[in-house]
Amino acid sequence: MKVAKFGGSSVADANMLKKVANILKEDLDRKFVVVSAPGKRSKDDVKVTDLFIQLGNEYNSGQNYGETLSEISSRFLSITTELNLNSELVHRIKSESERLLKETTNTWHLMDALKAMGEDSLARILSAYLNTLGVEASYVNPKDAGIIVSDEPGSAQVLEKSYQEIYKLRERKGVQVIPGFYGYSDSGLLTTFPRGGSDITGSIIAAGVQADLYENFTDVSSVYCVNPTIVNQPKEIRSLTYKEMRELSYAGFGVFHDEALIPAFKKNIPVCIKNTNAPNAPGTMIVSEKVDNNQPVVGIASDTGFSSIYVRKYLMNREIGFGKTLLGILVEEDISFEHAPSGIDDMSVIVRTDQLTLEKKKWLSQRIKSELQADTVSIMDGLAMIMLVGEGMSRRLNVAAKATKAFVDGEVNIDMINQGSSEVSMMFGIHADQLPQAVQSLYNEFFVND
Ligand code: ASP
Repeated sequence: MKVAKFGGSSVADANMLKKVANILKEDLDRKFVVVSAPGKRSKDDVKVTDLFIQLGNEYNSGQNYGETLSEISSRFLSITTELNLNSELVHRIKSESERLLKETTNTWHLMDALKAMGEDSLARILSAYLNTLGVEASYVNPKDAGIIVSDEPGSAQVLEKSYQEIYKLRERKGVQVIPGFYGYSDSGLLTTFPRGGSDITGSIIAAGVQADLYENFTDVSSVYCVNPTIVNQPKEIRSLTYKEMRELSYAGFGVFHDEALIPAFKKNIPVCIKNTNAPNAPGTMIVSEKVDNNQPVVGIASDTGFSSIYVRKYLMNREIGFGKTLLGILVEEDISFEHAPSGIDDMSVIVRTDQLTLEKKKWLSQRIKSELQADTVSIMDGLAMIMLVGEGMSRRLNVAAKATKAFVDGEVNIDMINQGSSEVSMMFGIHADQLPQAVQSLYNEFFVND
């Protein structure tokens, strides 16, 4: 029994939905199907979810939203027309959106209800389409499936009690098509996961029905070991562990949502990343146990947009609670931090730059200086982080040596090094403008020369 999840690009138009239907017809073990909302059909296109967000914003600010609603309807209408389906499904989108706008008083919940409409409508369309092809299929609302979530609009988390409800889905006949991205709180309110959260639904369903496999269909044939826009035609990863995938997707690998692994991991369900355009390609398997292929590093993740808050104080090492006070100031300023490497008399805190305005930086520096009586406080933007990831690292002696050699070869200065205590990853902070050469050089060292 398998759970197949299809992402936004896999359901972007009627042509893609035909491919999805073929994949499902080919293997009826794919009994549970989770879908995203239609994504971009081309580079400059807009995702249906973004259109719904635009609709909500227009309504909330008193603007005319009619045009956006028509744009959404025509996106779906082109799908139903090409698949020879009843246009009732599209009329429902219009009337349901109007009803939500009129009846939902809480802005957050209105936004969530609108955002979920893309997935919800697509699930209805796909199940109707499968039936016209002679495949018995039913649409299952997440409430009916038993997906109960915390009451956190836009960032819901699944509640443990969901799993025993979801298990009951196994008894149903035919293919069960479930919209991704949302569940219902205990009080019955529709609440969405974070953006990209249909992966999370797929993982929850796979864990709940105790599937043999969770297939995550996307638009790449496998996960590459490094960002293919930086390195030309990088090697594909055949297999990696949950831990490795979690580290990679957290640090910029967009293929799989970083919160989506936990449900599958807890119930030990293997995950396979597959391509809707090439369904017979082997894809990338994500499993619990490391397959030892002698490769210390499985992937190199990298991302820009970081700042470092550097604090120096003579004899910091003798001051108990210095770190607590520093991080406490960040908590009070509502800033989340990513890493906090420290020395004897200094400590840096790495944060995402988009959390810092010019004003906030000034205010932060002042607070840190006066509350910690620091000698120096400086905030530097324009940092990039590179993460070497691999469970095999912990058993090797020369990974750090090879990495630093790669930075030398690429003529890149390292600003910061941090190795997680789990030894699954090693992080390097560098100037963002040197990112491409650093990543290329690391790739050569670990994947070409090795
Ligand atoms: N449609 C949602 C989004 O665009 C969820 C998803 O595609 O997974 O974020």
